[in-house]
Amino acid sequence: MATNRTFTMLKPDSVEKGYIGAILEKINAAGFRIAAMKMTQMTVSDAKAFYAVHSERPFYGELVEFMSSGPIVAAILEKNNAVEDFRVLIGATNPADAAEGTIRKLFASSMGENAVHGSDSDENAAIEGAFHFSGREIF
Ligand code: UDP
Ligand code: MG
Repeated sequence: MATNRTFTMLKPDSVEKGYIGAILEKINAAGFRIAAMKMTQMTVSDAKAFYAVHSERPFYGELVEFMSSGPIVAAILEKNNAVEDFRVLIGATNPADAAEGTIRKLFASSMGENAVHGSDSDENAAIEGAFHFSGREIF
């Protein structure tokens, strides 16, 4: 059953470049309600666990290093059809392929440093949200 929630991280590149406000504005304008949000930093072991599904991929080491390199903003977002609509809002993984007006087209610089994470299914949205937030932090 669709939960109408997705999970996102504004990645270390977005925080470093001062894009938090601009990206949140796009998320807000697209009709998402913020159900949980915090600035945090993943340890190497956090990032390894979060991206365990990619552990056999050639980019895993770089991804773990990058995602633990600085603070992120983690959030749970709510909207009808949240997972799919948020993937549309962020655009393709590689910003070079991302549609005009998408968050990755506007704010990402490369395939690795691509500004934002977006869950790929309701199941993963729930797992990823629970990775970062306790029940008392979700509203
Ligand atoms: N990634 C990368 N190189 C690749 C594919 C992915 O560095 O060839 C990174 C990128 O930061 C991406 C993350 O790994 O956002 C997770 O990959 P996935 O295929 O799940 O892309 P996403 O769901 O983020 O679009
Ligand atoms: Mg993914």
